[in-house]
Amino acid sequence: MKAFAIREQMNGIEEPPGKTWFWELEAGVIFADRCVRCGSCVAACPSNSIGVRADTGLPELVKMCTGCSLCWDFCPRGGLRYEALWPPSTTRADDAPVVSRPDASDPYWKLTGGPPGEGLGAVLERYAARAAPRLPGAQDGGVVTALLLAALDAGDIDGALVTRPSRDRSEPWKGVAHVATSAAEIREAAGSLYNQTMALAELDLSRCDLPERPRVAVVGTPCEIQGIRAMQARRWSTGAHRIDSVVLTIALLCTKSFDYEALTLRELRDKRAIDIDRVGKVDVIGGRLIVEYRDGSVALDEPVRDFHGAALKGCDECADFLGRSADISVGSVGSAQGWSSLLARTRAGLDAVNRARSRLDLRDLDDPEALLRLDRLDKRIALRSLERTFDPDAPLFIDYEEHLRSYEGSSRQPVVLRR
Ligand SMILES: Cc1cc2nc3c(=O)[nH]c(=O)nc-3n(C[C@H](O)[C@H](O)[C@H](O)COP(=O)(O)OP(=O)(O)OC[C@H]3O[C@@H](n4cnc5c(N)ncnc54)[C@H](O)[C@@H]3O)c2cc1C
Ligand code: SF4
Ligand code: SF4
Repeated sequence: MKAFAIREQMNGIEEPPGKTWFWELEAGVIFADRCVRCGSCVAACPSNSIGVRADTGLPELVKMCTGCSLCWDFCPRGGLRYEALWPPSTTRADDAPVVSRPDASDPYWKLTGGPPGEGLGAVLERYAARAAPRLPGAQDGGVVTALLLAALDAGDIDGALVTRPSRDRSEPWKGVAHVATSAAEIREAAGSLYNQTMALAELDLSRCDLPERPRVAVVGTPCEIQGIRAMQARRWSTGAHRIDSVVLTIALLCTKSFDYEALTLRELRDKRAIDIDRVGKVDVIGGRLIVEYRDGSVALDEPVRDFHGAALKGCDECADFLGRSADISVGSVGSAQGWSSLLARTRAGLDAVNRARSRLDLRDLDDPEALLRLDRLDKRIALRSLERTFDPDAPLFIDYEEHLRSYEGSSRQPVVLRR
């Protein structure tokens, strides 16, 4: 592979086999504009050598890289084969027909190298749900917030990694990851913010006021839950990012996320003259981006494809719309307005739903086929995008000279092992 030649140029010293350096993640994922800002690399690094760049929000090396390869291994656009984490699907008569996969010509096998995860994935119980009473600020049914509040009240969790609006007034409608430890903080985080936050980088429990052996829930996009699941599968307990404390994972259904500046500031504020300070709700639903002002008037209703340039390119490669590795998945698709689709996938997920039953209206999922249709579309897009990325004629890794040039004019230094 080209990367090995680059290593030789890098220091000329023979190195043990199996080493992968952070700058290979930079070259293959971050500089290649494929990073989906999940923060798994930051959480996985055992020497806490990876930080988040203030200007771009992307991962960067802040200390010496030891070449342990873990940032690459846990990166969903790098070495992580997240499909391997999907528990076997449970299929029901009214789900999609089970895909037969007699050989490797099945596109899902090409995509995942494993079972395709047919139907809705592993599901113990599924509902259309909404919080009762309704929760102010919630995106759909307020189900995520109700689940977290019930778990916190019952003492099942000590806190939850959520995404709340930035407190910086120059960043209106920017989501920032935060470990909430009170009901008030969980309520404040209700609603969707359509930017990735490097969430797992914020799962630094050393900064939080929590008991010695904390139990936390994580709400995240499916790629963020993939990172946690992968680290849990390897019994991860190093560093400040205490993955072993995560007792409940809630995935938000997700086909794509956005860059904050590109979407909110450039596309909405600058190009379309949306008054961001008056915005009350942003929603991506039914293929449209809808922005409402606090007085209820519609500020914008436009096809979401018009905002493709502001979406994260790496999202196109993602085939996990349904958040199959989570304990619970929640989204708007498949349920009527004001309700959320709720899939309890594991025992822990079902326990959390049972704990919240008195706070939820539950009924049969309105339209499971809508979920399946979007899942199929998401996988098709991922497959096409992966084929483009891994075109054998298109170099995936940049060359080393180019890597060095990319630091020119920057205050950062490339990390280079000298002879
Ligand atoms: C980027 C993104 C894309 C989405 N795409 C789809 C989609 O294609 N189809 C679909 O059906 N649903 C999608 N959703 C989910 C949907 O918007 C709602 O979040 C979901 O229905 C839950 O609504 P609720 O009222 O039950 O949750 P609420 O009670 O409102 O709670 C929402 C929770 O989500 C967390 N949150 C908000 N923004 C983020 C973020 N950026 N990253 C991580 N956590 C966050 C909050 O901390 C809060 O705990 C998406 C959400 C996001 C953030
Ligand atoms: S996709 Fe996630 S793990 Fe990969 S480089 Fe980006 S933040 Fe790190
Ligand atoms: S589309 Fe996939 S990669 Fe992008 S934010 Fe959603 S879950 Fe993450």
